[in-house]
This record gives sequence, C-alpha cells and structure tokens, in this order.
Amino acid sequence: MRVVEHAALRTLNTFGIVASARFLVRAGNTADLLEAQDFAGARSLPLMVLGGGSNVVIAGDLDAVVVIPDLCGMTVERDQNDLVIEAAAGENWAEFVQRTIDVGACGLENLAAIPGSVGAAPIQNIGAYGVELERFVEHVELLDLATREEKLLSCAQCEFAYRDSRFKRRTNEIVTRVRLRLASQFEPMVDYPGVREELAAMGIAPSPRSVHDAITAIRWRKLPRPDVLGNAGSFFKNPILDAAQKDALLAVAPAAPIYAHGGAYKTSAAWLIDVCGLKGFALGRAAVHRDHALVLVNLGGATGAEVLALAAHIRDVVHARLGVVLEPEPRVLHTDQQR
Ligand SMILES: Cc1cc2nc3c(=O)[nH]c(=O)nc-3n(C[C@H](O)[C@H](O)[C@H](O)COP(=O)(O)OP(=O)(O)OC[C@H]3O[C@@H](n4cnc5c(N)ncnc54)[C@H](O)[C@@H]3O)c2cc1C
Repeated sequence: MRVVEHAALRTLNTFGIVASARFLVRAGNTADLLEAQDFAGARSLPLMVLGGGSNVVIAGDLDAVVVIPDLCGMTVERDQNDLVIEAAAGENWAEFVQRTIDVGACGLENLAAIPGSVGAAPIQNIGAYGVELERFVEHVELLDLATREEKLLSCAQCEFAYRDSRFKRRTNEIVTRVRLRLASQFEPMVDYPGVREELAAMGIAPSPRSVHDAITAIRWRKLPRPDVLGNAGSFFKNPILDAAQKDALLAVAPAAPIYAHGGAYKTSAAWLIDVCGLKGFALGRAAVHRDHALVLVNLGGATGAEVLALAAHIRDVVHARLGVVLEPEPRVLHTDQQR
C-alpha cells in the first residue's frame, strides 16, 4: 500500500473543498485494506473510505487514515441470455458502463456519466433516468473490518432503497467488488422526460450506445461540470411523503409536483428549493446553482463548513415554509467528535 502523510484532498473531491488527510493510503488489494486498518489502529486514528469523492462533503481536515480502494479489474461471463459482469471497487463507474456496452451488455446505459467509483455505486444505490443500480445487482463483495473477513451479500442483503443501502448505516464494510447481471437483448428505457427527444434530435434509433450518448449529452448540458464549478451533483434527495404529509404540502403549495412512489408519494426537492426563492442564493463561498436548485456549488475556496451551513439554511427555510424535511445525498466526512 502507498501512504502519503498530510495529503491534500482538494483534487480528490468534486466539491473542490480544500482539506487534508493526516494519512492517505491507496490500497491495491484486500491485504492492503487490512494493512491500512492496522496502520490506523496503531496510531489510534479512524479509518475512512474515499472513492472518487463525488458524493462527499469534507468538513475540515481529517485526522484520520483515508483509504482509497484502488482495486482494479473486470470479468465477463455469458449465462444463457445474460452477461454476468464483475468489477472491482476502484474502477471508474462511467468508464465501466462504457465497457459493458462494448461487450454487448444492456442495462447500464441510463446510468451513464455518473462520476465516482464502482465500489461506491451500491452505497447510495445510484440512480438516474428512471433506473437504479439494484435492478442489476447479483451480489456485492466486501471486507468486514470488524471480523477482517471477506463477505458476499446478495442483492436483498444490501437493503437497497431510494438513494440508500445498508452501507450507509455501517462504516465497517468496504465494498471490494460488485457482480451485476445484465441482458444481452436490448430493452430501451427511454420514457424519462427528454430522452426520446434527445435521441430524435441526434437522429439515431435507440441502442445501448445511443441511449448512453444521449443521456451523457443531457447530463452535461444540465449539470455544472465539477472541474469548472465544484459540486456533488444533486445535494438533496427527493422527499418521500406519506398521505398526511402530501396533503399538508399541497395545502401550502397546491402546485407542488407529486408522484406515486410505492405506497407513498415523492415530491421534487428542486421544486421546493426553487419555490422558496433560493436558486442562486449564496452563503459565503457556497451557493445554490443559479439554474439548478438541487445543485450546491463551490464558488471558489468554499470550506466544508460553508457548504454545510448553506445546506442547513436551505433545510430550515424549506421546512419553515413548506413543512418538508430535506435529507442530503452526500456523506459528510469529518473527524470532529462534536458533530
Ligand atoms: C456532477 C455529478 C452528478 C451526479 N449524478 C448522480 C446521479 O445521477 N445519480 C446518483 O445516484 N449519484 C450521482 N452523483 C453522486 C455520485 O456520483 C455517486 O453517489 C457516486 O456513486 C459516488 O461515488 P464516489 O466513488 O465518488 O464516492 P465517494 O464520494 O468517494 O464516497 C461516497 C460515500 O461512499 C463511501 N465509499 C466510497 N467507496 C466505498 C467503498 N468501496 N466501500 C465502502 N464505502 C465506500 C465513502 O466513505 C462515502 O461515505 C453525482 C455526482 C456529481 C458530482
């Protein structure tokens, strides 16, 4: 394993937050991950996992051993009409999706161009354009730091839900490998608003490649590129409401968008933030993007504390005016015991 002391993290998180890690370790295999755990234990420091840094807010310098699982590799097996594909945690998700299309596998095209690593994809059950990762997961391999054993969890054991999984509640499990079952026959999933129109504008019939390219084009037209304006994509989950909460929201905001979600209702966090007049609102060097109410951005030099203060302000305003509690998507990394 490779260790750097007092490592700068600014280029390792898409918010571009300036912070450092007491130690940064790149682990190329499971033995390295265990060695990183021992290294942290010997110094009485917590061990924290970082993938591509596209779904974290780093709240200050981390007095910790930050480990990046740099495990690589991908395998493809044919099983009747399916392709069973495994990828190691350190692979780049967006590149992995392209490689699955190259080998003739269908399904991941709607999850094109999501930043980050394969290993982090199960953490919040990544989703986009009407598709969530859980639909394809056969199992997830992990290293359990409590027992120091490698384990294999079935899809059901991962407890996937909307932007959620068991991994959000357990910090002692490092995902090392993901096994997905993908189809060889293409069934386009192009009902999400804008996808058909983009394909029509491109003048191409739906195929895994064309849907991938159409969604990539839509995404980068809509979202600010993190290398230009630091951000972590959507900052808040779309709230899930029960019937009473939905009625209470409609009583104060009759135009609020409401969608069926299982036995409950989903509303749009972006709409709620926008209707509260917060688009473009800035607090210090963090701001709500002027065109995308759901995207918080680093205007330059923002600290994690500034991003979190802005997020707290948005939560408070939306709750006070509309009675809905917003829940953040990104994870907060900190070593401050007060938090
Ligand atoms: C421009 C932009 C667009 C985005 N669009 C989407 C989208 O459409 N849909 C979506 O779902 N998300 C989206 N995201 C969020 C993000 O890309 C995903 O959540 C992604 O899966 C995070 O991967 P990462 O490797 O960067 O994880 P990190 O940000 O490094 O880590 C996220 C969390 O996972 C933990 N973690 C990371 N790797 C592992 C591992 N191997 N084992 C255990 N824990 C681990 C970390 O400790 C942290 O708590 C977007 C982000 C950006 C910047």
